[in-house]
Amino acid sequence: MTFKDLGIIEPILLALKEEGYTHPTPIQEQAIPILLNRKDLLGCAQTGTGKTAAFTVPILQHLYNSRQDHKGKRKIRSLIVTPTRELAIQIDESISIYGKHTGIKNVVIFGGVKQGGQTDALRRGTDILVATPGRLLDLISQGFISLQDIKYFVLDEADQMLDMGFIHDIKKIIAKLPFKRQSLFFSATMPPAIVELSGKILGNHERVTIKPKQATAEKIEQAVYFVSKQNKTKLLIHLIEENPNNSTLVFSRTKHGADKIVRFLTKAHIKAAAIHGNKSQGARQRALGNFKKGELNILIATDIAARGIDVEELSLVINYDLPNIPETYVHRIGRTGRAKASGIALSFCNMEEKAYLKDIQKLINLQIPVIEEHPFILDKNEEIPLVEKPTKNQRKKAKRRVEHKPKETESLNKPKRRKFYPKRNR
Ligand code: AMP
Repeated sequence: MTFKDLGIIEPILLALKEEGYTHPTPIQEQAIPILLNRKDLLGCAQTGTGKTAAFTVPILQHLYNSRQDHKGKRKIRSLIVTPTRELAIQIDESISIYGKHTGIKNVVIFGGVKQGGQTDALRRGTDILVATPGRLLDLISQGFISLQDIKYFVLDEADQMLDMGFIHDIKKIIAKLPFKRQSLFFSATMPPAIVELSGKILGNHERVTIKPKQATAEKIEQAVYFVSKQNKTKLLIHLIEENPNNSTLVFSRTKHGADKIVRFLTKAHIKAAAIHGNKSQGARQRALGNFKKGELNILIATDIAARGIDVEELSLVINYDLPNIPETYVHRIGRTGRAKASGIALSFCNMEEKAYLKDIQKLINLQIPVIEEHPFILDKNEEIPLVEKPTKNQRKKAKRRVEHKPKETESLNKPKRRKFYPKRNR
């Protein structure tokens, strides 16, 4: 199957060829015909599968085929809503690439930056608008955006939208859309709340599911290191020093943890930066930009900040902490081994995370190979037990407390404890 077989028009075929895409990915093969047929689509797939081209290519084609002479200002005919600024920017960049020979215009808007540049671009007119929910509603209420001409609506990463508390914003946006439109709804997972939301957006639709197993491309080499919590940074430094030129994305479960890792690496003279929700938009974009350009080799990220980030040539993903939601593991490792590159995903697992590892292996239906030999092998005695053993002193104190505990009958007859005891008269 080629892109030409899918009925894609010449100006887009040319752009895909220039990008080096020879064959459609499974989601493109399945979704493009449905979308060119003007049907609504429920896509159960994550980034890394070629999802962006799967929905932007047919939209570009529809817009191109119904292009106007553009004497007046262009009206927004397609709206793509996505949860994070990074994803919005990435989708916008992809549209610019796939649509470069079509003359279709696209604009991206997102919060956390001054609105001036964005409203200027909107004033000049656009065919496609890529937006995060908050800024979109804000600019609609200020009169910069009208949704009345929307013909193609995409809600991307719906599950993450809900996780981030965007449900009310989404409902407000849907209420402003024209009834007659083609709708596309993408989500990596399909819990009941998502199914319900999709029912509010989609009409009669088709469904395409690209299972995580397929998405966890065989191209990604996975391995796990058993290592104590205390030794994780040392192991990280060791692995980075072994592969100094690899661009490496390190996942931390928390923002605080991400900052801590950067501090440790900096102390070891390893240049690294963190991206997470507490960093300013400018700092995040700078770090990501440098990482993409290859000027920064190590990026530490939380799941929310990194989801959907597409970095070409990303060769190594390290799960410094294992995620407690197994699907998150699939999202994380999908950052490497993208359509073109092959990649490696290494995970650090301490005693307390073994249950997470079990869940992950069950989900991906694969036993992740264990690296048995490394300088920080988990010594069974070294690992902190879940409940720490009391010291000799603590045991003595506890014994004293037990000995002085009033008898059960006494305590039962005792009046109810008051919250505040009056000071005793001396
Ligand atoms: P996405 O899931 O849209 O983020 O795409 C993941 C990566 O795959 C991006 O780097 C795309 O440029 C790349 N890609 C998408 N479709 C193809 C294709 N048909 N052939 C090769 N690379 C692709």
